[in-house]
Amino acid sequence: MTYIEPAPITDRKNPFESMMSRFNIAADILGLDSEVYNVLKTPSKQLTVHLPVTMDDGTIKVFEGHRVVHSSILGPSKGGVRFDPHVNIDEVKALAAWMTWKCAVVDIPYGGAKGGVCCNPREMSAGEVERLVRAYTAAMVDIFGPDRDIPAPDMGTGPREMAWMMDQYSRAQGMTVNAVVTGKPLVLGGSLGRVAATGRGVMVSALAAMEKLKMVPTKASCAVQGFGNVGANAALLLSERGVKIKAISDISGAYWNEDGIDILDAIKYKELNDHTLDGYSNAQSIDNDALLETDVDVLVPAAMEDAITMENAHKIKAKLIVEGANGPTAADADSTIHDKGIVVVPDILANAGGVTVSYFEWVQNRLGYKWTAERVQRRSDRIMKEAFDRVYHKSVEHKVSLRIAAYIVAIKKVADTFRLRGSF
Ligand code: GLU
Repeated sequence: MTYIEPAPITDRKNPFESMMSRFNIAADILGLDSEVYNVLKTPSKQLTVHLPVTMDDGTIKVFEGHRVVHSSILGPSKGGVRFDPHVNIDEVKALAAWMTWKCAVVDIPYGGAKGGVCCNPREMSAGEVERLVRAYTAAMVDIFGPDRDIPAPDMGTGPREMAWMMDQYSRAQGMTVNAVVTGKPLVLGGSLGRVAATGRGVMVSALAAMEKLKMVPTKASCAVQGFGNVGANAALLLSERGVKIKAISDISGAYWNEDGIDILDAIKYKELNDHTLDGYSNAQSIDNDALLETDVDVLVPAAMEDAITMENAHKIKAKLIVEGANGPTAADADSTIHDKGIVVVPDILANAGGVTVSYFEWVQNRLGYKWTAERVQRRSDRIMKEAFDRVYHKSVEHKVSLRIAAYIVAIKKVADTFRLRGSF
């Protein structure tokens, strides 16, 4: 039996501390009392499991998995499940808290949670991944539930994994419970528009910020770091609105074209090329780190946490950063970014389009009804735009960054609700 150790995280910042340092600033401005502060800074529930799974060669491997429910104050907790070799409890705790703030910023009736399994799905067969998803779901069956805690896709998982999760949970209940998971394939009760939803929200919030900065989309250029679901859809939708996407990147490297990259062409290339941009020749290959420093108006980090740090923030030329990933800017980069006058649309606002359409999927499942793609898009665009305006006005009122303003909006909502609900 082999035990899969979580990958060392020596060179990575602690994302929970990154989250807390912004939380503390917002809590101070709000004058949050120490009692509510203590409630909101700690996750309400966390479970770590060790999952034995039979691999294709007959050996049994043990995988470490987590589910952290940060808060159920606003409603059932909501958040994706990440399959990645770097998964560790601090990261899952931070991601769970970010889900609480994200749901509160866009004003949907959910708390926040996150799950993760330390594994490398790229090196696993479909059968191995299926057995791991089923083992994880079976271990979490008392935590999950359509009125308790609702998982969704995140890095390394997608509709296929959500189908297995929904099926495994349903078997345990003896009936089909499709509202227990979102991000499902359409035939299993998934929502139209869910796949592109996070990227679409990035596009809506980028355009809203560009308008405030008096940037004209058809004259603006952009670099997108990460070409997974979020980055590729954000790039495509922004390019459809006339923004010139001059650089994109994935784990294979970064690609630059001064005249703009044909995003549909890059997406097709990736699909035909084992899901990577490796060898993409319709753009010049550049160093991965160089993407952040390219001369563009807008930068969309849509890859991993801590892509922007104290070490590279001073090299950024973009005037606007729109965070497609969760936690792509380490807290130690905030002051440099502020001093350079760069506007940041923070993750808990910019990438909330995904969970917003997850909410619509859950609503449709509970209604036993299906909405059209137009209805989904119209409603999610409206929610994103209203959330942007709310955060923007808070930032003007308190003279703070959009990030701190987003935390203020979110913390106030959760704190007020906590006070009204009361405690033991
Ligand atoms: N994993 C996505 C996120 O970080 C979606 C979560 C959800 O839809 O519940 O926002």
